[in-house]
Amino acid sequence: FRLNMEDLERGEELGRGNYGTVTKVLHTPTGVTMALKEIRLELDNAKLNAIIMELDILHRAASSSHIVDFYGAFFVETCVYYCMEYMDCGSLDTLVNFSFGETGVPEDVLARIAGSTVKGLKFLKDELGVIHRDVKPTNVLINNRGQIKLCDFGVSGQLEKSIAKTNIGCQTYMAPERISGEHQNTVGTYTVSSDVWSLGLSIIEIAIGRYPYPPEAYSNILAQLKTIIQDDAPTLPTDRYSPEACDWVASCLVKVPDGRATYAELLEHEFIQRDEAKANAENGDAVDMAGWLSKALQFREAKIAHVQALAAAALAPSA
Ligand code: ATP
Ligand code: MG
Repeated sequence: FRLNMEDLERGEELGRGNYGTVTKVLHTPTGVTMALKEIRLELDNAKLNAIIMELDILHRAASSSHIVDFYGAFFVETCVYYCMEYMDCGSLDTLVNFSFGETGVPEDVLARIAGSTVKGLKFLKDELGVIHRDVKPTNVLINNRGQIKLCDFGVSGQLEKSIAKTNIGCQTYMAPERISGEHQNTVGTYTVSSDVWSLGLSIIEIAIGRYPYPPEAYSNILAQLKTIIQDDAPTLPTDRYSPEACDWVASCLVKVPDGRATYAELLEHEFIQRDEAKANAENGDAVDMAGWLSKALQFREAKIAHVQALAAAALAPSA
């Protein structure tokens, strides 16, 4: 079926990025809940059509359980809209931002997240010939079944070009070679190993609950870029994670792109293989994703309630 705006009933806003908004919608003809992403672009119809055609490749692609399903794309005026699978627990950044007594993501859960992410990235590359280009915790989504899936991968070269990436935001996951411009940020020369760097950085952020570079570095974007190029790469805390977990992350965060592990190597690594064994185990050795997820969701609720209370207090007329 073809999607259009008339068939979508808008629900709550799920989040807002640098380039647009994501809204929960109900596709009334089918009763399917979807996530609608709106990207504002100032483009002519020919360019918009080209983008829609490129996005439609996703329709024909074989699906993977580690990337979000794509339902279709359309444009209205100069906005591109695309509908994807709704992931009801949101993105991982919102679940690991500790401040309410959380103790960090347990190693077995982290391994499951890391393994799923690598499988998603490997699928994109092997089956679709696509390099993600925007690996970061806000683009790793989770649902109530504990499934972890990637979204926002660079399928459309035309869309990439049209979204002026002038706003790099206050936290960058860009690999050193992309910052220093040794490889130009163009479709042809962006290599798959740049995604491996972003993956390593994202896994540390998910583990420790904050962007891995020190706060001094991210208050000032230029200082941050300099730090990424000049300093040693961040590491997992060795007191909380096994040598295998730390080694896995370190093999992603090698500053020279050619030195980084490949997806195949990352999957064969002991850190992920241990998780595979648990996933296949028939005894009680399974990873308690549901237990971790329900705790993380409770902390998130508590945080939201706390912020709302602060806002209400600030807005209340003083007696
Ligand atoms: P950027 O603009 O730099 O890409 P971002 O990834 O946070 O940052 P968006 O892609 O616009 O920005 O997404 C905004 C938020 O919406 C995300 O952080 C995520 O929490 C939520 N979101 C995105 N896609 C989905 C989805 N399919 N299901 C549920 N929530 C989603
Ligand atoms: Mg996103």
